[in-house]
Amino acid sequence: MPTDQSPRIEDEIAEARAAQVPTRRAVSPGMEARLYTAHPVLDHGFVRVVDYMGDDSAICQAARVSYGKGTKSVSNDTGLIRYLMRHWHSTPFEMCEVKLHVKLPVFVARQWIRHRTANVNEYSARYSILDREFYIPRGEDLAAQSVVNNQGRGETLTGAEAQRVLDWLREDSDRAYDHYEAMISQDGQQGLARELARMNLPANIYTQWYWKVDLHNLFHFLRLRADAHAQYEIRVYAEILCEIVRDWVPAAYSAFEDYRLGGAQLSAKGVEVLKRRLAGEEVSEESSGMSKGEWREFVGVWG
Ligand SMILES: Cc1cc2nc3c(=O)[nH]c(=O)nc-3n(C[C@H](O)[C@H](O)[C@H](O)COP(=O)(O)OP(=O)(O)OC[C@H]3O[C@@H](n4cnc5c(N)ncnc54)[C@H](O)[C@@H]3O)c2cc1C
Repeated sequence: MPTDQSPRIEDEIAEARAAQVPTRRAVSPGMEARLYTAHPVLDHGFVRVVDYMGDDSAICQAARVSYGKGTKSVSNDTGLIRYLMRHWHSTPFEMCEVKLHVKLPVFVARQWIRHRTANVNEYSARYSILDREFYIPRGEDLAAQSVVNNQGRGETLTGAEAQRVLDWLREDSDRAYDHYEAMISQDGQQGLARELARMNLPANIYTQWYWKVDLHNLFHFLRLRADAHAQYEIRVYAEILCEIVRDWVPAAYSAFEDYRLGGAQLSAKGVEVLKRRLAGEEVSEESSGMSKGEWREFVGVWG
């Protein structure tokens, strides 16, 4: 937990973590250890598990549409889960759910919210006053525009340019927040409504939300956002979520890692090129029938 979290949130989390009740529900030991622990992300953000439902055996139970444990041995369950993942039989994975409390910069939230198959409740900046907390990248994360990918970053910025950027980011954030505070102040004036005053705040200010999603859609989110092509600032959230999911549903996560995260998709043209290569033919970009971009991505995976 970052040290500058508001004490109120820290107390609430500690209180929730201390409370224990006996249950007849399925519990995942790995997830129990994660519950109510705020995992720091970026400079002021965090992810914590508020609640969850189901475990690996809940996936198998649904797949077999049976009652009770629904399985006889762990290796059976593991094999079934791998089969489901391999064949895109996805609904059994929807039987598991997780509810997260996430604190994240607004520009990261804009990417995250595009994942529509989740339930979200966000901090209200109409009702409450936002904290003076802005994401300022570390020096090593401050990068120049990529020259090969319009939607990405390249070399790390250095020297006077890096310093100038950091100074501007800090100054702009501070100045905007000073004006925000001055506008809502009721000291000797009426004070602008919070819902209006917030409009001058930059996209690196932090927001918070509760985000509830089922495991199938969480895997979809992680597949896209833990990927090397995702922006670093959302990828670090996805990476900690991968660790949490691995502890929650080890068999399902292992299948996901194998078939989705670590796996690769092949087009029909790609299959054809691989077959020709295996038959000893030298295939070039021109003779592959692929576009420049397709060929670059194909060679990136298959060499
Ligand atoms: C690297 C990267 C770059 C991106 N760049 C851009 C960009 O430049 N501009 C931009 O606008 N977005 C961009 N996105 C966002 C992207 O287009 C998706 O909106 C986002 O990844 C959410 O994916 P999704 O719709 O599959 O997820 P979800 O909304 O969670 O949906 C999951 C699945 O449910 C189904 N579904 C959900 N809602 C509907 C619906 N209303 N109708 C039909 N099917 C539905 C679809 O099958 C969908 O795949 C980018 C994403 C990534 C990962």
